[in-house]
Amino acid sequence: MESYAVGFARPDRWSQNSQGSARTPWHAVPALRPLRELDGEVELALCGAITQIWGGQQWSRVGAGRTGCAECRRLSGLAFEVAQLSRAG
Ligand SMILES: [Zn+2]
Repeated sequence: MESYAVGFARPDRWSQNSQGSARTPWHAVPALRPLRELDGEVELALCGAITQIWGGQQWSRVGAGRTGCAECRRLSGLAFEVAQLSRAG
């Protein structure tokens, strides 16, 4: 699995028309630099959402939760990993 930072969708950038973004504010952001350098940066998530990176969060944990963006989960391959884990466990 590639390395992903966790981004929190910025409320001021939420589109009035996009459904569900308020309920799934956590997105995966490709981590091209060390997480501590990315902390607080505003970056584009995998799904194209504008997010602010929370360096203390782990995508594998946050993304698997109910508030993780489904599109980012799919694009990052996390959905597949979660399915594998639940099958194994
Ligand atoms: Zn997303």
